[in-house]
Amino acid sequence: MSTPNSTTKSISLDSYGISHNRIHYQLSSDDLHRITIEKDMGKEASSGALAVNTGEFTGRSPMDRFIVEDDITKDKVWWGNINIPFEPQKFDKLYDKVIAYLNEKELFVRDCYACADPAYKLNIRVINEYPWSNMFAHNMFLRPTDQELAGFDPEWTVVNAPGFMADAKIDGTRQHNFAILNFSRKIALVGGTGYTGEIKKGIFSALNFILPVDKNTLPMHCSANIGEGGDTAIFFGLSGTGKTTLSTDPNRKLIGDDEHGWTADNSVFNFEGGCYAKVIDLSKEKEPEIYGAIKKGAILENVIMDGRGVVDFADTSITQNTRVSYPIYHIDNIQQPSIGKNVKNIFFLTADAFGVLPPISKLTPAQAAYHFISGYTAKVAGTEAGVVEPQPSFSACFGAPFMPLHPAAYAEMLSKKMLESGVDVWLINTGWTGGSYGVGKRMELKYTRAMISAALSGELGLYSYDNYHIHSVFGVAQPRECPGVPTSVLSPRATWNDDEAYYTTAFKLTNAFRENFKKFEVYASEEIRRGGPQRYAF
Ligand code: ATP
Ligand code: MN
Repeated sequence: MSTPNSTTKSISLDSYGISHNRIHYQLSSDDLHRITIEKDMGKEASSGALAVNTGEFTGRSPMDRFIVEDDITKDKVWWGNINIPFEPQKFDKLYDKVIAYLNEKELFVRDCYACADPAYKLNIRVINEYPWSNMFAHNMFLRPTDQELAGFDPEWTVVNAPGFMADAKIDGTRQHNFAILNFSRKIALVGGTGYTGEIKKGIFSALNFILPVDKNTLPMHCSANIGEGGDTAIFFGLSGTGKTTLSTDPNRKLIGDDEHGWTADNSVFNFEGGCYAKVIDLSKEKEPEIYGAIKKGAILENVIMDGRGVVDFADTSITQNTRVSYPIYHIDNIQQPSIGKNVKNIFFLTADAFGVLPPISKLTPAQAAYHFISGYTAKVAGTEAGVVEPQPSFSACFGAPFMPLHPAAYAEMLSKKMLESGVDVWLINTGWTGGSYGVGKRMELKYTRAMISAALSGELGLYSYDNYHIHSVFGVAQPRECPGVPTSVLSPRATWNDDEAYYTTAFKLTNAFRENFKKFEVYASEEIRRGGPQRYAF
């Protein structure tokens, strides 16, 4: 490969036990793009973006995500099959093996940080085996100035060795890949997987422990943007429900698309410095801002291109989870720094594949707490031929895989903040309408956008009988009218041509809600328990 240019900074990793000097420190995005292509690890798309394949893994692997059980975490983490304990001694041994492995490799190192609010800044050093993974870190974490870089003191380290395969029997992992957090040593150790999302979600998980425990700040799996009048909106939702899509709104400044903290003095700050958007079926017409962000500096993952480098976003032959990462400044209308004040609206996004939840409804504080703890969305079985039955999927706080504490800890903080700030809370179904998956179709993005705009501008009016009616099954308040949306779309039952089928399906979902909520009942007040659906099938 070509020699780094003269402005290249250098660094020693002696203190990590890495003794060689084939270390590329703080390379520019352009250099990493070029090196990736020179090493035949990626190609340039016609848009100028770098396109890579992440290898065996094209998504996170939640079953291989561990937390070291030590004095810091022992009594605080909610242990179970989400937060799987790992022994400190095993970690130390595995870490040493990974370091020995990396000691043989050319490395790419980047100093960066998380948390746009200076009071929360977390300095991070990312050590990567691959150049494109290091470019991902450049895109997704916050980028220090030269001044900040001089005397940079990394607090956490991400050690990322996609080519290192663990030996499960000896190393104590489940299989060859792993993502392990160690709070005592402040290390996120990722091996055996090239999926870049593990890098960002490792630090996210660390912050989801540190912020509530040490800083009285609520970490959230949500996107956020800010209106012309300075009002902040946040959008919670599980993967694929629309956090990135809907927060990228040309009329509002983007704060961030995935990870935020809500501080005790009521401001919301982004943890990250970039976005990580799904690109399945992406179109320039429907999502021009994200489409436009795919240019030099962006990294496309697992997409299919033709000989001229033109991406076919409909092609899911590698995965449905095709992605692009880009630094946040690839979007025109952004808030800088990524901090918002004055939270006025909260949206819970759900992709209800049963097609029974209203496309927009307003929640009482108790309903908001209930839905936050439940964290409902649906999985469609669409990839297997003939399977059309959706599966309900519940993930507490709309992000259980990244939440080391018990969900009640986050829910309590959120409930308190919601009451203090007097926000309006909305449940948005970005999923199916006119029937379940297989019969109905996905809610049109332009309608969802119109509903969100109307909620934000106050056009949905006050909570009164004239403006809203209460859904007989879910108990939520549905607006009767919404500018820019055909009235028939607002009532899910009306979009089905079979009343009985609608109610049968709705009860299937409410029963799933009830079943899921059982494990949280002891933590919820009577009021919150009554915030759930009103009717069930017996
Ligand atoms: P992740 O946590 O994995 O980043 P996300 O919540 O950010 O997920 P998006 O990346 O916004 O999810 O994905 C939503 C997908 O659904 C996009 O591909 C978008 O084009 C598509 N979509 C279709 N209809 C709608 C709709 N009505 N509202 C929102 N998104 C929609
Ligand atoms: Mn997203």
